Amino acid sequence: IGTKPFKLISELMDMGIFAGMNQTIEEDVAHRIAAAHGCTLEIRHRGEEQQSSKKKEEDKDEDDPALLEPRPPVVCVLGHVDHGKTTLLDSIRKANVVSGEAGGITQHIGAYQVEHEDHKITFIDTPGHAAFSKMRERGANVTDIAVLVVAADDGFMPQTDEALKFAQKANVPVVVAINKADAKGANLDRVKQQMQDRNIAPEDWGGETQCEAVSALKGEGIDDLLSAILIQSEILELKANPKCPAKGMVVESQIEQGRGPTATVIIQKGTLKVGNALVCGENYCKVRAMVDENGKPVKSAPPATPVRVLGWSGAPPAGVQFHTVKNEKIAKREVEENVQEARRLSQMSKTSEPADLPTDLDSLLAAIDKQQAKVLRLIVKADVAGSLEAANGVFNDIKSDKVNLEIIESGVGPITKNDVDLASSASAVVVGFNVRQENGVNAVAKHNNVQLILHNIIYELIDQVKEAMAELLDPEY
Ligand code: GDP
Repeated sequence: IGTKPFKLISELMDMGIFAGMNQTIEEDVAHRIAAAHGCTLEIRHRGEEQQSSKKKEEDKDEDDPALLEPRPPVVCVLGHVDHGKTTLLDSIRKANVVSGEAGGITQHIGAYQVEHEDHKITFIDTPGHAAFSKMRERGANVTDIAVLVVAADDGFMPQTDEALKFAQKANVPVVVAINKADAKGANLDRVKQQMQDRNIAPEDWGGETQCEAVSALKGEGIDDLLSAILIQSEILELKANPKCPAKGMVVESQIEQGRGPTATVIIQKGTLKVGNALVCGENYCKVRAMVDENGKPVKSAPPATPVRVLGWSGAPPAGVQFHTVKNEKIAKREVEENVQEARRLSQMSKTSEPADLPTDLDSLLAAIDKQQAKVLRLIVKADVAGSLEAANGVFNDIKSDKVNLEIIESGVGPITKNDVDLASSASAVVVGFNVRQENGVNAVAKHNNVQLILHNIIYELIDQVKEAMAELLDPEY
């Protein structure tokens, strides 16, 4: 598409995907990038030319506007810790189980559906944006609307801003739930003012953002919040073809005793049926049974429905997309190919030689670049905006011809697990100036092999960052 690699990498970054030069990206991401440059991307796997054009035809048929029908919105809940995300999700669920299902044994399967004013709404029931970022990282976001929870007594906090930024980057509209409206010290106007300051002025202040005061604890205002979500959903005119073979995404998976690997999926298009054969990255599934969030068996699941699916070869990770194939044999074959491909890629990223000889000047230069310059990516956190600016300034001033420093994200507030997640997916180091880390961050960092550098003295920080840069270089003997 005639674009330089660094430009592509920064475009991907804008989409929240931190890809290196030799990393694969999801097909739909590749399609989006191609489209943004006015190109149409055609993906052909070796020896599958015919099949691929057939698939394209199928996709075109599947998305024929005549076949699309309205579908429920898929909603996620984001916000600062302790502002009431979990309580809100519980309270919505308790008050609005899909009619006729009351009395069932509710299970936490990672997503659920409620009914309001005769419309269904699907909620992703894994609060916090770790799940959200995982999905986005894989370029496959299923959420249509984000509910941004802001506690009325606390107002916008660092993680609220971060969540808002996340949603905006992913092009997902937000509906603001001003929670804890019952609490002492609740100040709705202050939150609305803060919304206005962030260019998401509430509707009743002449803006365009839906905003409702709620008390998740007392179950108050929930109906209005659901109505606001439906209004937003109407604006989006969400539609999908319910009749084609099912495609969707994994929200959560685990290995359950007596059931084997199970995965909760959300259907994006088509209808998933018991007996279908699915391919999901390096796992396949012959759908043995499906259950809803009430533990009730279901035979078929239309678009936007969350179901827990049984019959997997292994537990597929959250955020991976699945598609339906003709039969189990084909599923096994495709998965085998995916496994081989993954192996080949990991092998490729281990060897320093480029696998294929570059064919033009750009890719030749890029390949040389890749070999020469190393990059230390940083996520910088500081206690206040002023010190953040100062820290970013000194890092940007560190000059080296062997290692480039790249600040991929910076913000005010303590170091969160989310920072570590981001660092892990971007192979970055988290640097904290005059901040603490939230509980549990150390353990997550250790688990994900993410380096944390914290100090209250800027010169110490600089030294440690320089050390981290030096560690990237190959030893010289
Ligand atoms: P999360 O970290 O965002 O998931 O927050 P939680 O749902 O765990 O709530 C944090 C605390 O705030 C808990 O002690 C809740 O009982 C309390 N809380 C949540 N919603 C409300 C509310 O509407 N009013 C009041 N007064 N407290 C609430």
